[in-house]
Amino acid sequence: MKKKGIVLAAVAVVILAAVIVCDFLFNKTVSDTFLAMNTTVSAELTGLKSEAALAEVKEKILHLDEKLLSRTNENSEIYSVNNGKTEVSNELASLLSVMKQLEKNSGGAFCIGVAQLTDLWGIGTEYARVPDEAEIKAAIENCYDWQIDGNTVYLPEGVKLDLGAVGKGEACDHANSTVSFKNCKESVVAVGGSVLLHSTVPKALFKVGIRDPLGEANEYCAVLEIGEACVSTSGNYERFFEDERGNRYHHIFDPSTGYPADSGLMSVTVVTQSGTISDALSTACFVLGIEKSLPLLERYNAQAVFITEDKQIITTYGELENETITVTNDSYTLGEAK
Ligand code: AMP
Ligand code: MG
Repeated sequence: MKKKGIVLAAVAVVILAAVIVCDFLFNKTVSDTFLAMNTTVSAELTGLKSEAALAEVKEKILHLDEKLLSRTNENSEIYSVNNGKTEVSNELASLLSVMKQLEKNSGGAFCIGVAQLTDLWGIGTEYARVPDEAEIKAAIENCYDWQIDGNTVYLPEGVKLDLGAVGKGEACDHANSTVSFKNCKESVVAVGGSVLLHSTVPKALFKVGIRDPLGEANEYCAVLEIGEACVSTSGNYERFFEDERGNRYHHIFDPSTGYPADSGLMSVTVVTQSGTISDALSTACFVLGIEKSLPLLERYNAQAVFITEDKQIITTYGELENETITVTNDSYTLGEAK
């Protein structure tokens, strides 16, 4: 009898140990922070092969930056395109087709042909300045006239491409496309203002803080509770400079005027399943303002949270079940987009 008791106890210990080891293996959380796309990338992955998945995600994002999207790296394809190359890879061709479609669907608020304008203002660099009217006019002339036809790209004289408005979201999509990542139980990858939320648990919800545009980098004014998605924010606080009179100029331009967009917003957060689309839409909606953004968001089946200069948080989230937004800073008021 006593012997039987000892055997049972031993079996229980073995089972417990096995459960602990399995739990450790299946729920192993790994994280890393590194620089890519001129910003900080942080990733936290939980799952059986989380370590391998993290290495793969890092490799993919760095590769995407260096080989495809970087405007300053001579080895990248977009650098070559801006310097005369016309035949591009399938990957770049399909991204450029999506960009052209977004340009059309946003009525020109979104336009990647703004590289000359971005360089002219130099916002975020030590050369930031307010250019004169003639310079601005020259920089936006023909910016919509670039074309993509199959794998052939055409740039008019003086037009160069800038994928800064979508690179971070595209990086999230690249992370999401790796099999080992998809197999992770839960993962969050943040590439600057674009955050990818992934879970294999059905109906899992994530809490995402929306930054207070008037606060420090770690201060938020609202919390979104949402399922698997990609969330991108464009804000006037990300990169800007002030002239000697205290006028502020930020980095998101209205391509039709060549000046920083002035649509009454401090930030726009867009939630969709595609990182590239959420990133592009956050930039486009920042330029368009609330009213003109709504049909565009609907077209791409996206939700948005707008923060206006008069401290209103306006959301399209009204009719969704489960997903909620909570304002966490009393100086902001919540409203619904009509
Ligand atoms: P984001 O922070 O995602 O809104 O992207 C802003 C970046 O996109 C800028 O730093 C520019 O490189 C580029 N950009 C600025 N204005 C536009 C625009 N209207 N359409 C597309 N790209 C833009
Ligand atoms: Mg963007």
